[in-house]
Amino acid sequence: LVERMRAFGTTIFTEMSALAVRTGSINLGQGFPDTDGPPEMLAAAAAALREGANQYPPLPGIPALRKRITEHEQRFWGLSRDPDTEVVVTAGATEAIAAAILGLCEPGDEVVTFEPYYDSYAASITLAGAVRRPVALRPGIGPQGRYGFDEAELRAAFGPRTRLVLLNSPHNPTGKVFTRTELTLIAELCQEYDAYAVTDEVYEHLVFTDAAEPHTPLATLPGMHDRTLRISSAGKTFSCTGWKVGWATGPAGLVSTVQRVKQFLTFVNAGPLQPAVAVALGLPDTYFTEFRAGLQARRDRLVTGLTEAGFAVQPSEGTYFVTADITPLAGSTIDGADFCRQLPERCGVVAVPTQVFYDHKQEGRHLIRFAFCKREEVIDEAARRLAKLA
Ligand code: PMP
Ligand code: GLN
Repeated sequence: LVERMRAFGTTIFTEMSALAVRTGSINLGQGFPDTDGPPEMLAAAAAALREGANQYPPLPGIPALRKRITEHEQRFWGLSRDPDTEVVVTAGATEAIAAAILGLCEPGDEVVTFEPYYDSYAASITLAGAVRRPVALRPGIGPQGRYGFDEAELRAAFGPRTRLVLLNSPHNPTGKVFTRTELTLIAELCQEYDAYAVTDEVYEHLVFTDAAEPHTPLATLPGMHDRTLRISSAGKTFSCTGWKVGWATGPAGLVSTVQRVKQFLTFVNAGPLQPAVAVALGLPDTYFTEFRAGLQARRDRLVTGLTEAGFAVQPSEGTYFVTADITPLAGSTIDGADFCRQLPERCGVVAVPTQVFYDHKQEGRHLIRFAFCKREEVIDEAARRLAKLA
């Protein structure tokens, strides 16, 4: 194994899901739904398989899917992209993120991102030989007592080697949705330092009605349309995380950069799933609102359970996740990683320590993450088990 990858062991999701299976625990660790997505989409995939859509699709994705991706962006975010030159279909958002970083960063270039960050970010930045410049999101310092960051810290993260900002909003694991004011500052810094923005918006449809603000794609801010690569994926929105159908949209230059790298990583992605995702992206607005409302109700159920169990629950404005401070339950000496490793034995529930998503582990030592993208009866049973901790 090359030196620069040695720090990357087994991902926390693999470790914690294996722990859940081994101990027979309820898995609120890895974020995947326990119900299937829209039946129209599943039927379309089955039909495509039978009808022989089983050979290599075109490199950038099938035209019908690219068209639907641009129509979806137009419908929800008012963004205008050319389906022929400004869209590429990828193996999940993960491949789009990796290909973007590998294609844009020279060794030594710097990537500004917020910590805690989704775990693939650090690995992709490292594979490219680039350097992370993480800015901490901290509970309580943002708008209305939510997660926020220090403006001076963000400014200090930018410099002459800044190549891009990698922004995830709605944000995993905190559930933070960046506000327009926060995004405006990020946009201004991108322009001042002539940096690109790569946005990970896989939770674009999962912003709850009590969020400080609705989701705003960074690409819609003044000056950002031509320097932002917007990444999303079908996995979260259509409850098909195992399909790994994602995409990137942006100016033709950025999209062709992703394509250049992507063609030698995977070349193309699952043929029969592409027409199915095209069907899903065309579902009426009611699908998206009902999906979000269902998750919001399950968030509320879990938050109630966690609060009753004694956790200091942090506000979650979106995504599949809520974070909780373990201090009231564990005292200040124990850390989240130990806490999560002991949780199955103590009460038969698996969660994820968020410290693994930080460079500055101390920042997230006391925080753990729970996923609520599970059936109500599963959440209720988890809450009953967690009540034993109090
Ligand atoms: N980014 C974030 C913030 C995520 O939470 C996830 C997945 N769970 C991904 C990217 C990866 O998405 P995909 O499965 O489409 O590769
Ligand atoms: N995105 C999901 C999570 O954050 C799972 C991703 C994974 O297993 N790699 O939990």
